[in-house]
Amino acid sequence: LKRHKVCFLGSGAWACAAAKLASENTSRLDTFETTIEMWVYEETYEGRPLTEAINETHVNPKYLPGVSLGGNVHAEPDLETAVKGSDLVVFCVPHEFALGLCNKLEGLLDKDAAVISLTKGMRIRPEGPQLISEMLRKKLGRDCSVLMGANIASEIGQGQLSEATIGYARADNGKIFRDLFQTPSFIVTLVPDVEGAEMAGTLKNIVAVGAGFSDGLGYGSNTKAAIIRQGLSEIKELSTRMFPSVRPETFLESCGVADLVASCYGGRNRKVAETFAKERGERTMEELADDLLGGQRLQGALTAEEVYSVLEVKGWVADFPLFSTVHGIIVGQLPVESITSFMGSG
Ligand code: NAD
Ligand code: 13P
Repeated sequence: LKRHKVCFLGSGAWACAAAKLASENTSRLDTFETTIEMWVYEETYEGRPLTEAINETHVNPKYLPGVSLGGNVHAEPDLETAVKGSDLVVFCVPHEFALGLCNKLEGLLDKDAAVISLTKGMRIRPEGPQLISEMLRKKLGRDCSVLMGANIASEIGQGQLSEATIGYARADNGKIFRDLFQTPSFIVTLVPDVEGAEMAGTLKNIVAVGAGFSDGLGYGSNTKAAIIRQGLSEIKELSTRMFPSVRPETFLESCGVADLVASCYGGRNRKVAETFAKERGERTMEELADDLLGGQRLQGALTAEEVYSVLEVKGWVADFPLFSTVHGIIVGQLPVESITSFMGSG
């Protein structure tokens, strides 16, 4: 029987933590070829190519220091070489780079390849927004699942117990990807709802920015809980308006409420927003991300802008007060204190 060959596209913190999970399984299970190719956006790290550092130490020293990916993960800077012969393709680059990478992939994938996206974000086009999974499916002509969940990369790198959700369109591919990622400490649930899982994973980044503002203002648990509650309500409402097929129960999975809670307490969006609020917007979110994240990318600020543009076009701004306020604060149109304005008193 032919073994599945796996390729990762991306080598950031989450791509590396997820590759560690997959490398445990491809070493153990005879349904997979042991070696995983990882396409790395090449850069110089401490005077030499990052791929060289990864291949020598099996650690990505820039994006997930201290975590071994497994000796069977091979870092490859050339995209065509990385994907050649792979029938399972894991897409995990920050969403602002997704279109550029997708364009480069056209014509390169194996005809039987199945894709899974771990990227949280959306693409904004003149004709309307598009989820990354839909973009991959349409441009590459391959089935695309998504893996979303409460998955803070550094914690998964340490082997801490976590859950995740795979949203699938084709059940057979959903199951193969579950076999690739599930370990005793990483428990994967399957849902037949790509859009619900991906919208939840995308939109929670905006709410996490709001939670960070609340932390930076020195507010406590009750206020943050209110932001999480309102956030969940807006996530569910916008997801359902944009994709009527979305299943309400998806929001109760790891990709929904659990990712929202984890990100509002532990994520990078929260962290950068906290400093923004403490400084009362003295530096932009982008400047702070550059300063605080060591090259890792912030997804929430751009997603807030993208989602706000959808709300404006549709005439829905007033129906999504938390999403709109987070955007207004980021662009300096509203004071940080207005983060609680959805609660009525401002
Ligand atoms: P990251 O933010 O840690 O790292 C940034 C990555 O972008 C690096 O691999 C860098 O090489 C790459 N990059 C820089 N310029 C590029 C370019 N021009 N083209 C392509 N790649 C380029 O990355 P990450 O954490 O793996 O994030 C990827 C996705 O995973 C995001 O959508 C994020 O929301 C999602 N995610 C992250 C976490 C987490 O805890 N980090 C958890 C779950 C999901
Ligand atoms: P941050 O990008 O805010 O760190 O969130 C990571 C994440 O998606 C956890 O599931």
